[in-house]
Amino acid sequence: MYDVQNIRSDFPILSREVNGKPLVYLDNGASAQKPQVVIDAVTRGYAEEYANVHRGLHYLSNLATEKYEAVRGKVARFLGVPSEDSIILNSGTTEGINMVAYGWAMPRFEAGDEIVLSIMEHHANIVPWHFLRERQGVVIKWVDVDTNGDLDPQKVIDAIGPKTKLVAVTHMSNVLGTVVDVKAITEGAHAKGVPVLVDGSQSAVHMPVNISDIGCDFYAITGHKLYGPSGSGAIYVSPERMAEMRPFLGGGDMIKDVRRDGVDYNDAPMKFEAGTPGIVQTIGMGVALDYMMDIGLDNIAAHEASLRDYTKSKFDGLNWVQVQGQSAGKGAIFSFTLEGAAHAHDISTVLDKKGVAVRAGSHCAMPLMDHMGVPATCRASFGMYNTTEEVDVLVEALELCHELFS
Ligand code: PLP
Repeated sequence: MYDVQNIRSDFPILSREVNGKPLVYLDNGASAQKPQVVIDAVTRGYAEEYANVHRGLHYLSNLATEKYEAVRGKVARFLGVPSEDSIILNSGTTEGINMVAYGWAMPRFEAGDEIVLSIMEHHANIVPWHFLRERQGVVIKWVDVDTNGDLDPQKVIDAIGPKTKLVAVTHMSNVLGTVVDVKAITEGAHAKGVPVLVDGSQSAVHMPVNISDIGCDFYAITGHKLYGPSGSGAIYVSPERMAEMRPFLGGGDMIKDVRRDGVDYNDAPMKFEAGTPGIVQTIGMGVALDYMMDIGLDNIAAHEASLRDYTKSKFDGLNWVQVQGQSAGKGAIFSFTLEGAAHAHDISTVLDKKGVAVRAGSHCAMPLMDHMGVPATCRASFGMYNTTEEVDVLVEALELCHELFS
């Protein structure tokens, strides 16, 4: 039985007040709060177990290396990947996608080659591809979502032409909560010989992910949304693509031998992890993944689905709230505007006074905002520790906004 109060008690920040009110933290889409086990792991990592990894023969270096390297296997288990050698540890999704852009795409793509993106990508899965457009003449092809915010996999597959070299799509929109059928997209793209990159920043937090089942070539996650420390993350790269990819960063750790006239690289995945990594952050991410797996990814998903349904039923009763994205199986992420002239920033300021933390703006998804024809929205995004009572506080605060601004 899912005991949300018990889970809440694991997160010390949730018992604090903001502006004299109990904190209602609904900005999980931006970053999630940390359970005590993660905070303890970070503290212990620095207070008792800190040294650089992979380089020393002394006790602490071996201990830190052992703990750091164990995370590779945890990420593999968390994402349903058979071999931890397919997991590159990094600082988050932004680094992961840039690594693919620089290390795999740039050496392989030529002027006129195409990359297919959905219109609801986060800037982290847009701007690296603009680099290829600006620098190499690569063409970006966009696939729109429908009025519900759904992305038709067939439309993505149909956008693939003879010059398409990559499809890059999100698994879950950080604005609309839409879940994308990335398995169908991968099957269709692979049938046309085109690799697929999936941005799993949001999906991996809210639902069990099985990369072996999806079959994609790249899958990026970010630790700070997964209840872990910021500056941690990972990307899955299939063995085929790993063999094709060049190192993006050069430096220590990613080499076997460096001479005056040449260099031999380490084996993958170490070849793609240059320099001193986020040691303690990564160890903290491993603890966060264990914490989630202990609670159960299906249990978290079921709890969040009930929060989504409850929020939807409340919002449906407020005809002055316009929710963007009505996809049936969406995650518990609600982007909305209020009828009248109030800007999303004004609404979030009023909510903040009531202790309710939401995000306001374009959510690093400007092409989507443009497509929807709204300059900015407020976004309430839920996590494993949120409750229906918190939804009620949100709704009450929105009623106040409605009174103030209409
Ligand atoms: N992709 C999506 C869908 C996101 O929501 C985010 C973060 O907001 C990112 C990518 C970027 O993640 P990070 O900033 O942790 O690299």
